[in-house]
Amino acid sequence: MRAYIFDIDDTMFVRSGPFVKVIGKDYPAEKYPTLPHELPELVKFYTEFRDRGDYYYNNFFACGKMSEEEMYLRRTKDVFAAHGVELNDEQAMEFHYRYLENQKHIDLMDGMGELLDELLADPEKYFVGILTNGNYDRQHVKMHSLGLDRRIPEERIIVTGAVNLHKPDPKIFALYEERVLKPAGISRGDCTYIGDAFGNDIRSSHAAGWKNVWFNWQREDEKDADACADRIAYNVEDLREYLLHA
Ligand SMILES: [Mg+2]
Repeated sequence: MRAYIFDIDDTMFVRSGPFVKVIGKDYPAEKYPTLPHELPELVKFYTEFRDRGDYYYNNFFACGKMSEEEMYLRRTKDVFAAHGVELNDEQAMEFHYRYLENQKHIDLMDGMGELLDELLADPEKYFVGILTNGNYDRQHVKMHSLGLDRRIPEERIIVTGAVNLHKPDPKIFALYEERVLKPAGISRGDCTYIGDAFGNDIRSSHAAGWKNVWFNWQREDEKDADACADRIAYNVEDLREYLLHA
């Protein structure tokens, strides 16, 4: 038995999609000339937004120093301000809610649904699960839009917000083993984690004693990869090749 446990954001779907859509619709170039409006600057803008969010998440929210709403407010105001647009609290929350609304209309990366279905069609050989950082409700909205909730049984899904322990803490992998894998009779040596984020997914799963596949479709710097990435996949086809034939 091989257990393949997946990350969601930027592993199952392209996370910048909803952000790029809201900027395009609600923040047009005529009205907001200082904001990025063309790719790839827009994706870079989204990365800044995400990094700002991760900063508040890891340093403030995860250790109880900031509320969730405050975290979303701050990351939005910070990145808009960096591009010359000062949003008030109301405007920042408006952006946040529009962004959430657009997250309801996301799709799996091309080929990912087929790959999951192939794995799930052979339950004697493959066990498929999800371990994702984030707020329980928000991650469930995404899983519903992506059709993951109808593919993967609820008891194989852990959203870290619900257990108050988050990647990159390796203890979250031990908790997944305890709650999901042990009851299914699967041991640590049979587990592979699949994720896009080197620190959160790869270094941490390695530290927890799991195998992993770094889904580096964004071609991030691989200078530290040797020490902890077992495999690197650059597209869904690479990933499929490895997961089905490892
Ligand atoms: Mg991710």
